Amino acid sequence: MSQTDSTPRDRIERRTDRQTESGDAKLHASDLEIGYPSLEQPVIDTDTLVIPEGEVTALVGPNGSGKSTLLKALARHLDADAGDILLNGKAIAEYGSKEFARELGMLSQHGSTPGDLTVEELVHHGRYPHKGFLEGKTMEDEEAVERAIDLAGVDHLREQDVGSLSGGQRQLVRIAMALAQETDTLLLDEPTTYLDLRHQLQVMDVIRTLNEERGVTVCIVLHDLTQAARFADYLVALRDGDIYDWGRPKDVVCEELLAEVFGVVASVEYGEEPRIIPKRPVDR
Ligand code: ADP
Ligand code: MG
Repeated sequence: MSQTDSTPRDRIERRTDRQTESGDAKLHASDLEIGYPSLEQPVIDTDTLVIPEGEVTALVGPNGSGKSTLLKALARHLDADAGDILLNGKAIAEYGSKEFARELGMLSQHGSTPGDLTVEELVHHGRYPHKGFLEGKTMEDEEAVERAIDLAGVDHLREQDVGSLSGGQRQLVRIAMALAQETDTLLLDEPTTYLDLRHQLQVMDVIRTLNEERGVTVCIVLHDLTQAARFADYLVALRDGDIYDWGRPKDVVCEELLAEVFGVVASVEYGEEPRIIPKRPVDR
């Protein structure tokens, strides 16, 4: 049966089966409700979320579907109102704050960077969870910072003030800071939005290298569905704060998804890689 003939119940069953069969979860959330004090209804209300260990998972969905809210809760920037979130099988609330920061790094969507530090100084800030009280820079810190600067490709910028950088350069430096934290799990909220194509590809390359060479588990919000489908091992599609579908890109990206989640009539073709051709908004 093609996906287009299936009922919502079929889709939910397929999604649940895939999540159950996907192997070890690095992050696992169940019966989640996440909201803000000013809102009556929760923004996120969903049953099960699995972020598989050692894989790249992309979170996709239209503006306002709750991607950033979900990521904030996974990173402990926001407390969930209900549900359980486990990292390595242990509730995230049970980690000490430095202990948590040694396990999981987060690059938020609207993060600011202080302008009066040099690139190298800023990247050193990524090392804070590895330091004791009043402890200076150790050999380990220096090495981690060098690895991060090298991997993010910002060596030529290291003496510059962060405030003098272009948007694309600043994003790579923020990524270097997150890399210096040397966590097994990295969450990134739209790290490529507003970057030119070259910087976008550079960022994606850094993330893929990190995953392949160090086995880092990545959960990344990507604005561009085609890019997400080509890049990620797994996709999570969010609609109105609920997980609409979850799985390998080839199992998730289809014309029905484009219509029901993104509100777009589109054709989806599969060659070597998926090709999405948007045509017009769905009549509502
Ligand atoms: P996305 O990242 O998918 O664009 P968000 O998680 O940023 O979506 O937002 C989801 C919903 O939560 C939106 O309706 C947004 O207006 C609301 N929201 C986000 N942040 C806040 C906040 N700090 N206070 C109140 N509502 C918020
Ligand atoms: Mg967002």
